[in-house]
Amino acid sequence: MKLNENYFNVSDSYLFSAIAGKVAAYQAAHPQKKVLRLGIGDVTLPLAPAVVSALRAASEEMGKSETFRGYGPEQGYLFLKSAIAGYYKERGIRVDDGEIFVSDGAKSDLGNILDIFGRDNTVLIPDPVYPVYVDTNVMAGRKILYMNASRENGFLPMPDYSVDADLIYLCSPNNPTGAAYSVRQLQQWVDYANAKGAVILYDAAYECFVSEDGLARSVFCAEGAKTCAVEFCSLSKMAGFTGTRCGWTVVPERLAQGKANKMWLRRQTTKFNGVPYIVQRAAEAVFSPEGRRQTAENVDYYMNNARVIAQALEELGIWFTGGKNSPYIWLECPHGMDSWQFFDYLLENAQVVGTPGAGFGVNGEGYFRLTAFGSKETTREAVARIKDLLSR
Ligand code: PLP
Repeated sequence: MKLNENYFNVSDSYLFSAIAGKVAAYQAAHPQKKVLRLGIGDVTLPLAPAVVSALRAASEEMGKSETFRGYGPEQGYLFLKSAIAGYYKERGIRVDDGEIFVSDGAKSDLGNILDIFGRDNTVLIPDPVYPVYVDTNVMAGRKILYMNASRENGFLPMPDYSVDADLIYLCSPNNPTGAAYSVRQLQQWVDYANAKGAVILYDAAYECFVSEDGLARSVFCAEGAKTCAVEFCSLSKMAGFTGTRCGWTVVPERLAQGKANKMWLRRQTTKFNGVPYIVQRAAEAVFSPEGRRQTAENVDYYMNNARVIAQALEELGIWFTGGKNSPYIWLECPHGMDSWQFFDYLLENAQVVGTPGAGFGVNGEGYFRLTAFGSKETTREAVARIKDLLSR
């Protein structure tokens, strides 16, 4: 027996446990202080009423022999795939049913997609970024190249033709930086990928937060993306499905001369048995007119929080990205503090918890992530405390 020793090279994901440890220690020493959390990446608003009634109705169906359903199609029921295709169509993007694969969320597919790509591919990953891209490739023993996201490039690295890569990860709007590519910028990436024969793995988990014209909400808004990109999307943030679990992946028919779609179908039919029927009905309800209105209200609620945070940082003269088209706000730590120093400073002096940027990659050092997923009240109070502390 031999273990996959690549796992020994995966760095300990100590970020959130370190935060929890520090907060617990502070709270134990100061039980009378109220700690406010603007660090979480999980949603706080409940499921929309349209989603809950779809869940109820589907559960009733499952309890009657005439309407009970067992195994479903591994790649998702047609009713949901058609609703997803309609969502793309609204944005002028044609995605065929056969290109859509319903998943239990973006995270699983972002890792699983690697099954269809050879181990000797070179991977290009922005730094800082959502750690799953790095860890899943380290587990597989792939060579990783990093591209620097920095204040100079607005945390949106652009292609460098002197770099040869086979698999390119892009996440827009980005976690943790909140930076979002414009359609024009994305077009440059698509042109680069097509020229290099590379594949873009595009994480659009936060696309629903984009409201500004000219910014990309899908990689397929760039011309030629169908021959060089896979898109991962999720209902987690769009509709509060972090605990309900549903997303989708688009693998275009034309990618890799038609091979990638067939291989992914084969992979899924072999290793995956589909998302629960009741969850797929709930997901379908997200795309109903009522569901769209209700989930849009929740997105607006979070974006109001983001605006409150962004406005305070503007007033304080602190440089940041995100907040406008993203629930994340990525700020430069004031007074030259490093990420963890600023974490401790905020916790001890304002009892506000955020996420140190260093936890997302070397280029995250000196930066800090705040999120808009808290309640309106918590956000306002936390922002007032931050303003008070940093304007002293
Ligand atoms: N992609 C990014 C960039 C994320 O930040 C997250 C979750 O935080 C995910 C994917 C995971 O999404 P899901 O809940 O659909 O697995």
